[in-house]
Amino acid sequence: MADKTVLVTGGAGYIGSQAVLSLQRRGYRVIVLDNLVYGHRDLVASVLKAELIVGDTGDRPLLDQIFTDHKIDAVMHFAAYAYVGESVTAPAKYYRNNVVGTLTLLEAMIAAGVKQFVFSSTCATYGEPSEIPIPEAHPQNPINPYGMSKLMVEKMLWDFDRAYGLRSVMFRYFNAAGADPNGHLGEDHNPETHLIPLVLFAALGQREHISIFGTDYPTPDGTCVRDYIHVSDLADAHVLGLEYLLQGGATNAFNLGNGNGFSVKEVIEAARKITAKEIKAIATDRRPGDPPSLVGSSEKARTVLGWQPQYADLETILQHAWHWHQRRHG
Ligand code: UDP
Repeated sequence: MADKTVLVTGGAGYIGSQAVLSLQRRGYRVIVLDNLVYGHRDLVASVLKAELIVGDTGDRPLLDQIFTDHKIDAVMHFAAYAYVGESVTAPAKYYRNNVVGTLTLLEAMIAAGVKQFVFSSTCATYGEPSEIPIPEAHPQNPINPYGMSKLMVEKMLWDFDRAYGLRSVMFRYFNAAGADPNGHLGEDHNPETHLIPLVLFAALGQREHISIFGTDYPTPDGTCVRDYIHVSDLADAHVLGLEYLLQGGATNAFNLGNGNGFSVKEVIEAARKITAKEIKAIATDRRPGDPPSLVGSSEKARTVLGWQPQYADLETILQHAWHWHQRRHG
């Protein structure tokens, strides 16, 4: 597949940059399109050494230019806004960027005859689960505009396959975590809202404490349970998804998680062990919109794509994240 070129939108972001690394390791040529609102130019330039085009997925003239200038074989689409809370207060921003921006990208692809698409979706498309672990066939009833924006794109992708022959792999991620095992790439959101980086900021002494959002959930220790999946394993799944499409695979949706749930308290306790730091935790109110437990079944990705997570245990995920945080933020 070494002669193939992949356009990676959002390739300067947390998950997109890891996917660029995985693609490059497999011999693909990569072009990154990123508006750098949340992405990091330095990571693309120094770690990935990929060509970076700065712009929006909603910029049709720019997209047409990219597809004219380069022979693109497939698109991996990570660029999106992804703050659940913000999506509730600013839904227009989410529908414009995540839905209209993606529609513009898909139209440009169709015009250019590029018909293979790997899409970052989310377990937030399921809403409140009625079954754990959640299978792909679970009903999709998102409870926030972020999840809805991703579900709208999933629906479009099925229609675009039927009408235009554009084939897609949609990945519904559980909780992306960890960092590149070599410590070169990792999570660097601003603002940061995710549990693991915030716990590590507390370990570094850059936050006074970590808040535990709710201790009265119907879970074994009362705190929310999530399925944490290593970002390198996510990235590898994207390469497998791409190869499935390049080999003629049909449009399909896959969960990506480890199938193991860890509570907020368990994550904090594991981080104390790995960092050997006291991490002060303070119980506070629930965060609106948090389901008690989100754990996915990824059997389908394992059987159909042959995906095998390499870093499935929470300690390794935390160790890699800690290594990265010390380098980047220490
Ligand atoms: N969480 C928490 N304190 C924080 C940030 C997150 O207790 O400062 C909890 C959050 O309520 C959720 C879990 O940690 O139950 C994972 O949250 P995160 O934002 O990392 O990911 P999400 O599950 O929202 O995608």
